[in-house]
Amino acid sequence: MTRIETLAVHAGGEPDADTGAVSPPIHLATTFRHGPAGERRAGYEYQRESNPTQDRLETALAALEGGESALAFGSGMAAMAAALESLPNGSHVLIPSDCYTGLRVLGAEFLPERGITTTAVDMGDLAAVRAALRPETRMIWTETPSNPRLCVADIAALAGIAHGHGALLACDNTFATPVLQRPMALGADLVMHSTTKYFGGHSDVMGGALVFARRDGFHDAVFHRRHVTGGILAPFSAWLILRGCRSLPARMAWHCRNARVLAQFLAAHPAVAAVHYPGLATHPGHEVAARQMSDFGGMLSLRVKGGRAAALRVAGALKLAINATSLGGPETLVEHRASIEGANALSPDDLLRVSVGLEAAEDLLADFAQALDAARA
Ligand code: PLP
Repeated sequence: MTRIETLAVHAGGEPDADTGAVSPPIHLATTFRHGPAGERRAGYEYQRESNPTQDRLETALAALEGGESALAFGSGMAAMAAALESLPNGSHVLIPSDCYTGLRVLGAEFLPERGITTTAVDMGDLAAVRAALRPETRMIWTETPSNPRLCVADIAALAGIAHGHGALLACDNTFATPVLQRPMALGADLVMHSTTKYFGGHSDVMGGALVFARRDGFHDAVFHRRHVTGGILAPFSAWLILRGCRSLPARMAWHCRNARVLAQFLAAHPAVAAVHYPGLATHPGHEVAARQMSDFGGMLSLRVKGGRAAALRVAGALKLAINATSLGGPETLVEHRASIEGANALSPDDLLRVSVGLEAAEDLLADFAQALDAARA
């Protein structure tokens, strides 16, 4: 197999056939000339169905994840919703008890309207996963590492459980990216991304994606849903995310390096109650993460001694790291998740989530050191 760094640079990147342009053109056309009876000239008809810029991105995403096909969407949530809403009416889905809040809301408010029910389960507890299966369970949805507690799930074991039950395994691979973790090689049938995050990589583009192990009936159902309900990605966004692919492995290496250094620093700090980072040997999912990931990622969360007030003081005292939601950009972002999740927040009050950026590690350590000290004073 071509190595991931090489795939990231070249997949979907053939020079333009008409001009030789090495950077691919952005096709903004919403409609494509066809014959009098709708005969297509180069396979395209209307942008909501498909377009050449999006095709390049989808080719790259499928190659990076080792899937047969990929579909790009206007956001991670659009991708997630399209996958789950394409399951047959009456389906039951297991979702992780720690996961991106949007999945929880989708399961509580929207999927039941489609006749789809969800049960939250600790994906790290395989006995609990088996016990939560119902005859109508059609999918296990995992997110590893998870948002915001960085819980780790054993993808190969979950694939075994799902397939033994005649269900699919889907994996939200947003935190790890295919550079660090390739769920399909471990048995997953579907991989989902918020490409808003590391793929885009610069906090300036919104997108989502689904990668399918097989181009089968489920793929076709999701494609049809996207075409008709219109959750597509704009060509300029597709182009930006494709550009992000090129530097993804290099950026991930730096994110991982900085996160490891910061996690070790925070774990030893007297004002910190706990650090959730799968790269720490003390993390309950460390062994599984070491087995299924090539490195541990750029995300961590910390629990501040003194509860909510102390956590907010630390967040407020940071000077370099920015208080903002989202993740995967060059700048370090810190977020008090419970505040962002609102009324039904599940995140602990003392938890700060950190998207560790690409700054110099020494500067990040100095910033967190001064903020933790200022919050204690
Ligand atoms: N999945 C994970 C793990 C996320 O962190 C997010 C957003 O933060 C999403 C999905 C949703 O993606 P988007 O914001 O692009 O809709």
